[in-house]
Amino acid sequence: MADAFTGPEPDLAALLASRPALSMQAREGLCFESVPLNAIADQYGTPVWVYGAGSMEARYKALRAALDAENLPAHIHYAVKANDHLAILGLFHRLGAGADVVSIGEFLRARRVGVAGAEIVYSGVGKSAAEIEAALAQGIGQINVESAEELEMISGIAARMGVSAPVALRMNPDVDAGTHAKITTGLAENKFGIAAAEIPALYARAASLPGIKPRGIALHIGSQILSTTPYAEAYARAAAMVGALRAQGQSVEVLDLGGGLGIGYHDEPGLNLAAFAATVRRAVGGLGVQLLLEPGRYLVGPAGLLLASVILQKRTEKRFVVLDAAMNELMRPALYEAWHGILPVDPALFHGAQSPADVVGPICESADCFAEGRALPDLPPGTRVALLDTGAYGAVMSSAYNARPRAASVLIEHGQTRLITPRQAPQDLWADEIV
Ligand SMILES: *Cc1c(COP(=O)(O)O)cnc(C)c1O
Repeated sequence: MADAFTGPEPDLAALLASRPALSMQAREGLCFESVPLNAIADQYGTPVWVYGAGSMEARYKALRAALDAENLPAHIHYAVKANDHLAILGLFHRLGAGADVVSIGEFLRARRVGVAGAEIVYSGVGKSAAEIEAALAQGIGQINVESAEELEMISGIAARMGVSAPVALRMNPDVDAGTHAKITTGLAENKFGIAAAEIPALYARAASLPGIKPRGIALHIGSQILSTTPYAEAYARAAAMVGALRAQGQSVEVLDLGGGLGIGYHDEPGLNLAAFAATVRRAVGGLGVQLLLEPGRYLVGPAGLLLASVILQKRTEKRFVVLDAAMNELMRPALYEAWHGILPVDPALFHGAQSPADVVGPICESADCFAEGRALPDLPPGTRVALLDTGAYGAVMSSAYNARPRAASVLIEHGQTRLITPRQAPQDLWADEIV
């Protein structure tokens, strides 16, 4: 399954209409948060990542408001892996979010922008001893434990350091999130979490181990979830687990509900926040626990785009639109068969006659393809296109494959554009190599 979405591909007008941060101006062309993308391309070159601070803030506040409307004692921990740029981490920190990290590098990034250790949750199936020690030394708020073996390892390290490690056990709820196979994490066959049947004994063990303070239960069932159904099922299982643990005399203070909140990559609505919050309240609202949420994609995905220029159009029996952006910038289509909207920036082209095109990058891989058979107007060399909804799992996954220097990134704040990552100079490609 490439995609949960099964409807017809939206046309350009539908893509535009479903994205309030985008507008098509008669003279300036496609604008993002009111800034003309042609002006950004002229100033900073392409390919360039363009992020909208206003969109990020609006999305955070919408989620906060939906949780508050249900009176949920829920703290939002931004999942750093979706987009780990310091400017973006700082933005969510100032809005009041904690951080969810999956490596010590992400932990240090969050610390770098001022997130307190206590506001950071550390997840992941393979944390090294060095990573655990570093996180404990900086007062990590919670380590989500993914196995019995890891619990023993943390206990040994914490006891040796003379500290108490606050842990949650990550339960694998064995729920199908109904999402792409490569981003589902809550099935028994996945590598993540601990089987529900093993949690009660392991929780008791945690309570008796030196250097361990069990705080509660965590779960995260997958990514890009558009329906509340898998959440309702997983959270009901988590609530039952909290009840079972308390019945055996354990204290459970925290329930970490994970992330996975899905966005509309086509013209479908994203996960309905009010329905999601109501689902959370019904399943776990009465437990008297501190709730944590770990959204990544939801907060940043639609708040970013990748702006690229057309190098040329190559015509064989097909039409190929060859961009100056490639899979080394945006890997999601190659990795997950992900669908991203592609909009021409020029207003005349936007309204022009369309024919099918494969939109590709210059890399020597057939997987370097952003779209196949996409209905698009003629896109002459030098014209620009925007690859939409690439704020999450975009720049963080990019590489220098084919010795392609890292793209620049800019942040739009209150209608002003600021460079937040300079384009890499070619000589910097090998600057850290030893001959
Ligand atoms: C990736 C991840 C998240 C964030 O997922 P999104 O789909 O981006 O919301 C949250 N928690 C954990 C444990 C993760 O691995």
